[in-house]
Amino acid sequence: MKKYPWLYPIYQKIINQCLNKKNHHTILIQSQINLGSSKLILKICKTILCDIKNNLFSCNVCHSCQLINKKNYLDLHIITLEKKKKFIGVNTILNCLNKINNTSQLGSITIIWVPKIHLLTESAINSFLKVLEEPPLNTLFFLENRNNFLLKDTLKSRCIIYNIYSPSNKEGILWLKKNISQKYTSENLLLALNISENSPILAKKILKNKIWNARKKLFKKIYKSIKLKNLFLLYKYLKKKILKKIYWICSLILDVIKYSYNKNIKLTNIDQKKLIYIINQKNSKKNLFIIIQIWIKCFFYLKNIPKVNINFILLEPLIQWEKIFNF
Ligand SMILES: [Zn+2]
Repeated sequence: MKKYPWLYPIYQKIINQCLNKKNHHTILIQSQINLGSSKLILKICKTILCDIKNNLFSCNVCHSCQLINKKNYLDLHIITLEKKKKFIGVNTILNCLNKINNTSQLGSITIIWVPKIHLLTESAINSFLKVLEEPPLNTLFFLENRNNFLLKDTLKSRCIIYNIYSPSNKEGILWLKKNISQKYTSENLLLALNISENSPILAKKILKNKIWNARKKLFKKIYKSIKLKNLFLLYKYLKKKILKKIYWICSLILDVIKYSYNKNIKLTNIDQKKLIYIINQKNSKKNLFIIIQIWIKCFFYLKNIPKVNINFILLEPLIQWEKIFNF
């Protein structure tokens, strides 16, 4: 756990409370996505269930640790989505609780972990609330709110809440330097953090992935099509991995909007200052707002409408932008 310095203080606090038997029965971990909340919870569960008790870390060799390493979770029940379902219903919760009641052994601890608490239906939350009112003996609950979704106050009031925050840029860059074998400049590492919402874990993935180059290539294409005064040159290129590309375009336009208000503002795409400057020169503030809305709408349709026609949907933002772009 020391490998993730931004998670370690929470790990230490929860384990110490468990060792001193002063822990709350329901622990809610909140964070933005990709900050390692699942790694943190799994590590805590492993230590709690480890046969060698009273240690800050799991031994990694005992029977319980071996089982968890093999993803065989005997006393750890993970409530996830059932196949072909979009939400976690009341039956999934009740089945899990019944299973615990039937198998729990005297004195041994059982852990229930809900990795995506926002997927619980209203009735599932209500039945869960009833359980938390009088929780079963020797049972510990972990609720994970990965994207800081708004949760019911009644649910939150029954938990102790820990928030995971992303590390500072300086800490993030230091972590990336330690954890990536390839050498990158500090500016590139900062850029990777910027486009990963300051998550070092995601930044590492992006740097190791083809995505890093795909993003640069997209911005080169935009630059070229502006120079040639023809945004339709992007049409064919955008079709592959379209959602990712629209996300980057929106992030770029957002930078232009920020820049149009304040020339000294901290930008996300720090490697694209020239492009941001050009787009700012050739688009009024009003038009920037119009065009970002159209791109967001396009993103929403592509993401949420099954079998939507990409060729057709992609035309609107390009036509509109071409129309208002002051070449
Ligand atoms: Zn162990």
